[in-house]
Amino acid sequence: MTVRTRIAPSPTGFMHIGTLRTVLYDYFLARQNGGQFIVRIEDTDQEREVEGAVEGLLKTLQSLGIEHDEGPYLLPDGGVGEKGPYGPYTQTKRLDIYKKYADQLLEAGHAYHCFCTRETLDEMRAAQTAAKQTPKYDRRCLKLSKEEVETRLAALQPGDAHVVRLHVPVGESVFEDAIRGRISFNNADVDDQVLVKTNGIPTYHLAVVIDDYLMKITHVLRGEEWLSSTPKQIILHDMLGFPMPIYAHVPLLLNADRTKLSKRKGDVAVEQFLAKGYLPETILAFIATLGFNPKADQEIYTMAEMTELFDLSRINKSGAIMNLEKFDWMNKHFLKEMAPEAYLEAARRFVPEAIDHPVMRKAVLVERARISRLDELPTALLGYGDLPEYDGAILVWKKSDAADAKAQLEKLVELVPALSAADLAAPEALELKMKEYTASIGVSAGNVFWPLRVALSGRAQSPSPFEYLYVLGAEEAVKRLRVAIAKL
Ligand code: GLU
Repeated sequence: MTVRTRIAPSPTGFMHIGTLRTVLYDYFLARQNGGQFIVRIEDTDQEREVEGAVEGLLKTLQSLGIEHDEGPYLLPDGGVGEKGPYGPYTQTKRLDIYKKYADQLLEAGHAYHCFCTRETLDEMRAAQTAAKQTPKYDRRCLKLSKEEVETRLAALQPGDAHVVRLHVPVGESVFEDAIRGRISFNNADVDDQVLVKTNGIPTYHLAVVIDDYLMKITHVLRGEEWLSSTPKQIILHDMLGFPMPIYAHVPLLLNADRTKLSKRKGDVAVEQFLAKGYLPETILAFIATLGFNPKADQEIYTMAEMTELFDLSRINKSGAIMNLEKFDWMNKHFLKEMAPEAYLEAARRFVPEAIDHPVMRKAVLVERARISRLDELPTALLGYGDLPEYDGAILVWKKSDAADAKAQLEKLVELVPALSAADLAAPEALELKMKEYTASIGVSAGNVFWPLRVALSGRAQSPSPFEYLYVLGAEEAVKRLRVAIAKL
């Protein structure tokens, strides 16, 4: 059996991080077994559809470096193409396929026509709720005679209420969930689900079962919120004579206080995390290990390691907590690990002008050690740049006086131009050098480093003098030292 997994998002405008987690599990499972990972667009609910959502979704997968084997994909010109032998991979392009199966279900008596209007259904629901019953379709249209159904169908006008419903059989729906074990539902609790809507478009439930079968999906991984849909889909598999895929319902993502993760786009959209300057590597490593950590003594995994170690049966059954502090910590780690050029390129989106500026580019490199996310860069860079107007009084260290500050700065005007290229190559090298210098002249560090730092930055608070000196270079530093001396 070739393992075939799929992600079946509805094009609603952004990728929920829970969806990304399922994507990753699908991807690991397929890659681990030499199988295929498929993207299918479930757009049967056209009211929810957002323009450009498919492109957006594919772009997000691309930004994260996740490649799928079949389904829609982005063309170089920004359009959407399709690859794979089981297409089309967009549900609204498969309507004739669904029609065939819906007819088959109707013929076999597994489904029936229902003509109840919205008002009738609302009344039914209100009466059931008042009687403290679980709202459910009361099957009044199931009682219509064949002739009556024929007559009503023939008389249908555009817009008239008419749906096809699943005739849920008596019994139990049982399946073995790869994460949660055996799950059973009493069919008496399952509603006669609408399979085909008034507009002739099938609902998700019918389409998903047919597509998973025709696309030869072996493992259906999806969020726990779909669990209540599963009995309907199992019943449909039975009725259509389809073999059942393996189901795995992935537990919910939770906030640190164990409440359900907000649905607000800004808090849960993968695109927002990218926009905040989390690196793709971090997002992948963090999301992949939510609720699943293959080794007790390791926190960060590469995609290759995860692909090798992933094990569906070891996913935690309880909800996974989104620990944002850990997310930041991981991002800091990945930022530090990057090659400088790659880091600068990643930073370009956040501080485009700085990257091409000889001084600010170095500031971007220095700030790497401090930031957790790339969107902190614009603020971090505020401490650099042109020398602001400042009051000479701030040049004086609290344990010293203006005369000493001036004397130290005058010595630095001599020292700085004599620094070698190697000294100036990194803040660490400068720190070493400058500490040797203060030790050699027998003064405490504060006497030299305070006025030096303020002279270079023009600010009472700023990055260290070594970082500043590295960023500015000797020539600009000397200019600023002279400005400071004139203020004392
Ligand atoms: N279309 C569903 C969604 O939007 C897919 C559920 C499933 O994977 O079966 O997530």
